Amino acid sequence: MRLTFVGSGDAFGSGGRFNTCLHVAAERTRFLLDCGASSLVAMRRLGIDRNAIDLILLTHFHADHFGGVPFFVLDAQLVARRTRPLTIAGPPGLAGWYERACALAFPGERALPFPLALKEIQIGKVNRIGDLAVIPFHVRHDDRAGPCLAYRIALEGRTICFSGDTEWVDTLVDAARGADLFICECYMYEKPVRAHLALSILREQLPAIGAKRVVLTHMSEDMLKRLNEVEYETADDGKVIDL
Ligand SMILES: [Zn+2]
Ligand SMILES: [Zn+2]
Repeated sequence: MRLTFVGSGDAFGSGGRFNTCLHVAAERTRFLLDCGASSLVAMRRLGIDRNAIDLILLTHFHADHFGGVPFFVLDAQLVARRTRPLTIAGPPGLAGWYERACALAFPGERALPFPLALKEIQIGKVNRIGDLAVIPFHVRHDDRAGPCLAYRIALEGRTICFSGDTEWVDTLVDAARGADLFICECYMYEKPVRAHLALSILREQLPAIGAKRVVLTHMSEDMLKRLNEVEYETADDGKVIDL
């Protein structure tokens, strides 16, 4: 199984990085975790086959995680000429957000040449989506757009946890405990800001979580300028992890 950081950035273009988007290619399925506004450009730069993606799984409805969906769908209709079914899954409210975002981005009705399923994740349950078993955890970020989620995903014998955007919440311990890979947002170095994590907090919490591999992402300039003081692995656009 191969995970690629299509985008490792935040909402502000810090470090010139693309918005959040992870691509996972497993034996039987391929999916995206988040699809930020710049993700179509970033996928094309990496030569990722968009038509081979079965699922886009969204953590929350901020545009740096979700804003690439209208571009993905337009490209699927007009350029990639997709025929393969696509599932878009995300927090409750997904169907409304999907409609509003597409209507704002590219107004006008267009018949989709492929089957599209919108699946709202059930919090507190194991959600089976294709070959994935997805457990969502409600984290603390900005619920004005609906609940923001971290995901623990089991697939083909591996466990991946992605924090999404969040400040510290103890639920992250359950979400990431013993995971093969924990991809965690780390916005600030020392001083936490509202709605995001800081390395100073993760240094206290990560040992108890016991994930086998930790990669920090979604870093602000504050983190990026001190990368040489960070003892954890950090993400880059295009970084590949084999699991
Ligand atoms: Zn974000
Ligand atoms: Zn956010």
